[in-house]
Amino acid sequence: MSYIMKKAFILFSLFFLIISTVSCATNFQPSSEEVVNMNLVDQKINPCEDFFQYACGNWLKTNPVPADKAELYRFTEIDENTLLILKNILQTYQRGENMPPQAESQKLGNAYSACLDIDKNEISAKEVMAALLKKNHFLQNKNNLMPLLAGLHEQGINPFFTIYAMQNPGEATQMIGTVDQAGMGLPEKSYYFDKDNLEIRTQYVTHIYHSLLLAGIRSTEALEQAKKIFKLESEIAKISLSAIEQQDPVKTYNPIGKMSLQKLSPQMDWSIYFKALHFETSDTLNIVSPQYFKRLSALLNKTSLTDIKAYLDWQIIHETSNFSTLALQQEYFNFYGKTLNGKKEQAPHWKKCVSSVDKSLGEALGEAFIKVAFGQESKDMADTLVANVKSSLKEMITKLDWMDVETKTGALKKMQSLNQKVGFPKHFKTYHDLAVSTDSWFENQLTSNLFHFNENLKKANLPVDRNEWGMTPPTDNAYYDPTMNEIVFPAGILQAPLFNVHSSIAANYGATGATIGHEMTHGFDDSGSQYDELGNLKNWWSEKSSQTYKEKAQCLIKQYSSYTTNEGIHLNGELSIGENIADLGGLKVALAAYNKTNSQVLDSDLKIFFIAYAQSWCGQLTKEAARTQINSDTHSLPKFRVNGVVSNLPEFADAFQCMDTQAMAPKNRCSVW
Ligand SMILES: [Zn+2]
Repeated sequence: MSYIMKKAFILFSLFFLIISTVSCATNFQPSSEEVVNMNLVDQKINPCEDFFQYACGNWLKTNPVPADKAELYRFTEIDENTLLILKNILQTYQRGENMPPQAESQKLGNAYSACLDIDKNEISAKEVMAALLKKNHFLQNKNNLMPLLAGLHEQGINPFFTIYAMQNPGEATQMIGTVDQAGMGLPEKSYYFDKDNLEIRTQYVTHIYHSLLLAGIRSTEALEQAKKIFKLESEIAKISLSAIEQQDPVKTYNPIGKMSLQKLSPQMDWSIYFKALHFETSDTLNIVSPQYFKRLSALLNKTSLTDIKAYLDWQIIHETSNFSTLALQQEYFNFYGKTLNGKKEQAPHWKKCVSSVDKSLGEALGEAFIKVAFGQESKDMADTLVANVKSSLKEMITKLDWMDVETKTGALKKMQSLNQKVGFPKHFKTYHDLAVSTDSWFENQLTSNLFHFNENLKKANLPVDRNEWGMTPPTDNAYYDPTMNEIVFPAGILQAPLFNVHSSIAANYGATGATIGHEMTHGFDDSGSQYDELGNLKNWWSEKSSQTYKEKAQCLIKQYSSYTTNEGIHLNGELSIGENIADLGGLKVALAAYNKTNSQVLDSDLKIFFIAYAQSWCGQLTKEAARTQINSDTHSLPKFRVNGVVSNLPEFADAFQCMDTQAMAPKNRCSVW
């Protein structure tokens, strides 16, 4: 798992992280579609019974999930458009034309060319992977395991555990080296044991077996190895934290000295590991789960060298399959795309290449993107929305009747220091030390992983750089970072149909205003509320307010757990509580901010506001993807992000004149903010 993915885990993003798009120098322009499109509304549905189906009904009918996708949202068109813009930029750089001007245009062009050259990659992927596997096969005894792991970790291959630098939750001005669990191929530990996932487990073992064969492991050994690998991964799953536990900032913050880590896990020679990574300066580390390392040490002790080597083979193959030979890419897709997410076919290769360049040279590509696809008008309007939503949230906190004065003071202090980043970074990252050739996509990927790993790890114990961004400018997503106490809105998400300077104010507040509010309230959700205004992990809540907050959250946990999909699967209200609180608070504060823009808001304006919100979530998933999201993702499915929220707002029922007996106007509502 790369640093960016790790960082994304800490951040509270709007939805599952996807790569998004932009427009180009020549052919492609950002979309001009209105935020609210009444043609998407299904007038046959009563908005008070099922608002999602009402607002998105016609869209759902005409927009089935395409074969190469696991989910389709109305905003996916932003992603598609962005991909075309980025493709156009990269093709220009491939031709050696530096337009838009960009210092790294050659590297960008090279990275894209290498990825597109499938024939070259077939040869080099085999060669480079064989070299990686050979190193593993030379492992003579367990004493040499730790330096071998160091070599894999720095290339983005993470068997057993991983290491990275993150902002220190105990001292928010500093970075801290962090050691974390890793090394499972299934999305969450429950997949290894739950009775519901038996079929997926069987298919996973087959997937391991096929991948080993394709990587050249002898067929007589491969099946036996696949079973052993699965067994060892199950042992890792047993000692790992669950997705819910990983959300707990207190439980996952355990600063200890290197000596203590050594005592905790005596079978693992940490000094050799750190030496191999040239990471010897800092002493204190954050151990995400001390129990995990204690048990991992015992697990390594009892596992045979042969089984460890089989598992390492698998991890090397698994973590590189996505940019390896065509056969391995297809095998990877068969399991992760088809089985887990219900996709029918792979996306066109060029899209993979654009995403790959975004991952390696994201801010260089993003800088070019901004030049062709993001205008000052959009930036100004987004800044105004942020300022107005922020002021409404402050007012809302001041007026809360359940929060005592002491806690309110802490909350308002936090609002006061909340930072905002809109559009793109002040300074773009540079990539001087990253070599990019046209020879091998596989090798470029590993080199890029190495570059990003070192860039990140060398920051341990240094002051935090508050100008850094956790997403690249073209990304169609947003986040709140509790350790920075900031909300970040890349240019990618500030595009039509989610945001349009020419659409009505009501529509922009309903869609993007709600997203801004969503991210801001993350500062005060179950997890974010545990950090102070500077980003330190520090409790500023009184016992009484904290207790009331938990009771209020409980109402939402119950509400969302009662929802089921068409297949009868219950949502996990506990796993998604932070996001559900943010959705509800976000729309409520956006509504308050919108009401302040106009002294005479009509019911028809309010209807537009709510339809804009719902249409920002028009979307559907394959049943496999829906299931994977419920099991492992903190965000609720689109239908419930709409109905679960509006049914808690009396203003919605008033605007649509819903009666008390109707589904969107329940007698008992949940409310937090
Ligand atoms: Zn969120």
